[in-house]
Amino acid sequence: MKEYPKLYNLKENCCGCTACASICPKECIYMEFDDEGFMYPRVDYNKCINCYMCKSVCPFKVMEGINGNVKNYV
Ligand code: SF4
Ligand code: SF4
Repeated sequence: MKEYPKLYNLKENCCGCTACASICPKECIYMEFDDEGFMYPRVDYNKCINCYMCKSVCPFKVMEGINGNVKNYV
C-alpha cells in the first residue's frame, strides 16, 4: 500500500495556499494556525485514501518537478 502523503517537512516548503485542502476528495485535510498565525495543512489519515491529489496540486511539489530546486519537502 502507498504511504500516506506527507505534505511538507519544513514550514518554508509550505505557503499555506490551501490548494491541497481544497482538492482533497475526502475532505481530510484541514488547515491549522501555528503560534505565529500562519496556516499549515494537517491530514486526517483515518479518512485518507492515498490518491495523492493533494501533492499533485501543491505549488512546491510542482516547482520541484520543473526545476528541482526546492529541497527537503519530502
Ligand atoms: S492523498 Fe488524497 S485523500 Fe489523502 S489527503 Fe491527499 S488528497 Fe486527501
Ligand atoms: S498545497 Fe502545498 S503549499 Fe499549499 S497548503 Fe498544501 S502543502 Fe502547503
